[in-house]
Amino acid sequence: MSKVAHYLQEHLLGEVMTSADARRYFSTDASVLAMTPALVVYPRNENDVRKTARFTWQLAERGRVIPITARGAGTDLSGAALGSGIILSFPAHMHKILEFDSKSGVVTVEAGINYAKLQQTLHTHDRFLPPYPASVEYSTVGGAVANNSSGEKTVKYGDTRDYTRALRVVLANGEVIQTRRLNKREFSKKLGLATFEGEIYRALDALIEDNQKTIDAAISGVTKNAAGYALTEVRRKDGSFDLTPLFVGSQGTLGIVTEASLETENYTPDTALIVASFSSLEQAQAAVLELRELDDMPSAMEMVDDRLLGLVERLAPNLLKDVVKKPFARVTMLIEFDAYGDRHQKKMVKKASKILERIGAEYHIETDPSQQEKYWKIRHSSAVIVGHAENGLKALPIIEDGIVPPERFREYLEGLYAIFERAHLQAAVWGHAGDAHLHVQPFLDLSQVGDRQKVFRLMEEYTSLVLSLGGSISGEHGEGRLRAPYLAKQYGPEMYALFQKVKLIFDPYGTLNPGVKVNVSMDTVKALLRSGYSLDHLYGHLPRT
Ligand SMILES: Cc1cc2nc3c(=O)[nH]c(=O)nc-3n(C[C@H](O)[C@H](O)[C@H](O)COP(=O)(O)OP(=O)(O)OC[C@H]3O[C@@H](n4cnc5c(N)ncnc54)[C@H](O)[C@@H]3O)c2cc1C
Repeated sequence: MSKVAHYLQEHLLGEVMTSADARRYFSTDASVLAMTPALVVYPRNENDVRKTARFTWQLAERGRVIPITARGAGTDLSGAALGSGIILSFPAHMHKILEFDSKSGVVTVEAGINYAKLQQTLHTHDRFLPPYPASVEYSTVGGAVANNSSGEKTVKYGDTRDYTRALRVVLANGEVIQTRRLNKREFSKKLGLATFEGEIYRALDALIEDNQKTIDAAISGVTKNAAGYALTEVRRKDGSFDLTPLFVGSQGTLGIVTEASLETENYTPDTALIVASFSSLEQAQAAVLELRELDDMPSAMEMVDDRLLGLVERLAPNLLKDVVKKPFARVTMLIEFDAYGDRHQKKMVKKASKILERIGAEYHIETDPSQQEKYWKIRHSSAVIVGHAENGLKALPIIEDGIVPPERFREYLEGLYAIFERAHLQAAVWGHAGDAHLHVQPFLDLSQVGDRQKVFRLMEEYTSLVLSLGGSISGEHGEGRLRAPYLAKQYGPEMYALFQKVKLIFDPYGTLNPGVKVNVSMDTVKALLRSGYSLDHLYGHLPRT
């Protein structure tokens, strides 16, 4: 065991592991990349996290950088839950619900809590946390906060950033801070602190002050975004200031989250589901745009294309038998309205039906929960693709997270099909139609040189497509390591330089998850590409996407 591991073992309450097995386990997440850590720490409490950060800071001051990568369930699709130094694994011990305020609906949890466990507890209070990801069963809340995760309900309710009220964060030097929106007076107190926290507030305030125009210009037309640092959200016109939105989506590169306080919503499980079939992309686009205009938006607007249904029919012939009719519609959309007991929502369903009729779509309204479950299988059948292996081919998450403004939805789909044609690819499309946020996982074999080269060619073409449509390279999974080389292309050199400065303010020695988000070259990413892809440590649960 290394000196570092010995030191940590002596000073921490939690366990320290250096076995080859443990390191191998943590050498992959759900991405196509791999990186073996030096050791794994299972912090028992915040003090363990604080001591680990303090220790690496002191080493870094003497010129030795040991990266720390915070880790939840390791379901990250962007390679951001990987690191070459210390993995801080939260789910083992730091997984408690600390407080639920039934009046405000705010829940405070430790970072390693399983998302589904929290959701079940909230349901017993008739509340829920809307931006849950499809990986809800096996991912953590800390991971969702760090990735600004979102999911099927985001179209109506927003993303994780919208629900994160406050955080407890261990800074790079081991200092612990509490974030929340500060009014002018509270903020000026922070500016006066003679601590690292004070330094951060001062430096960030000056950075925003000097670059307000560049920051304002970075606001894009997409409905959600997990790429870059959310500098636009920190300082408001009323003079208030909040570090919380910056930590959300920062993928462990600015600080380590130990606790999160999140707002919740009334749980409204009575829903009406409209299953709509569109014979053309134009029809589907018109539906998305018109449904988004309703005064109360659908709580989900999810889609699959005919290629996905064709693949599912071949790979799992009984799964959708009697659920979808052939020939498959070009696009099938599941449009959900929650709180259906409410008269207002019934009116919304009527309005949505009128829109669909006018557009010429076929549709069916389902209010019986057991029948709805049957129809939701259409969308969830994408899991068949994700879990499938055939002659070494696997569905790879390499171009799976681009989002464009909703009015470019049709062009996005057309562009994707053109990429598939050019590359002679077997690929299908599914995802969050209401946000024009689509998932694609082409079948490739990472043991083949030709396919390995194809990975990067496809990423290049795909990124160009998404950016040419005014989109973002990441709607919810984060740019992490995999997409980080494209961040400058998305934001332009000035905003990218600000991201680099933000990183430097919070992490001057580069100990916090380096190689993620900023300062990443494509050559470094290429060197991390796995020789085979598998979701093996996630098969305890159905890998819904
Ligand atoms: C099949 C499948 C489906 C998915 N569907 C979705 C989806 O619908 N929506 C979506 O948004 N994502 C989705 N994802 C991606 C991923 O599951 C989510 O982003 C999830 O929220 C990550 O949680 P985790 O606990 O696994 O985090 P990890 O993978 O362990 O970590 C994710 C990132 O968060 C950082 N991190 C973790 N804990 C902390 C902490 N305490 N402090 C600071 N940083 C921390 C890590 O360093 C890493 O950068 C999916 C993944 C898979 C495999």
